[in-house]
Amino acid sequence: MREVVLTEQQLRELEDIYEKLQQEYARVATTLDFSCSGCPDNCCDSYFLHHTYVEWAHLWRGIKQLAPERRMAIRARAKTYLGQCTKELLAGRRPQVMCPLNEDGLCVVYGHRLLVCRTHGVPATMTRPDGQTLRFPGCFRCQEIVEGLGEQAPHVARTPLLTRLVLLENELLNNKRHLLPRVKMTIAEMLVQGPPTLPRFRSYCDETILL
Ligand code: SF4
Ligand code: SF4
Repeated sequence: MREVVLTEQQLRELEDIYEKLQQEYARVATTLDFSCSGCPDNCCDSYFLHHTYVEWAHLWRGIKQLAPERRMAIRARAKTYLGQCTKELLAGRRPQVMCPLNEDGLCVVYGHRLLVCRTHGVPATMTRPDGQTLRFPGCFRCQEIVEGLGEQAPHVARTPLLTRLVLLENELLNNKRHLLPRVKMTIAEMLVQGPPTLPRFRSYCDETILL
């Protein structure tokens, strides 16, 4: 097995995707005169699953910059988080547990937070490969602002940026995504498992073998 590490070029591409997403987010938020300022909620307790080795590896770039004692404390919180989520899921409820990377209301790896963390809040759309468009209404505060606007509500179109993320994931995985375990993980699972690793490949003509 080898650790998945982003090249400088892949890192720049991911950071550009994040940057464009944040610009789109800011455009929509400004149009709606929306901000998180004074909100009684903290979205870091929302339950989300993440799906790419790219973001998992990028998150770990941030984790590795933290002092060992802090990392141990985060890992302990991640284990507690997973136990609490398991209980909620077994009871048929969507978990609402604070992310182990949140300390005193702030993200300890802010520059390495994941795409979902950067997009939650304002309305968004995403078109699936089968052509169906999904609409996300935004958080409860934003929903109050856009009430009655329906499809006319300003929103972030996520598809072009997600398409770039998928292309980047394919490149990172050497176009072998279909051969590898799927990523479908909470941030806590990424923390407990450690940085992503992959089997080594060997190609024999047109056959690929996992070592
Ligand atoms: S990674 Fe950071 S921004 Fe994302 S949920 Fe956790 S604490 Fe919040
Ligand atoms: S995204 Fe919405 S719910 Fe979350 S902190 Fe901001 S205003 Fe509050």
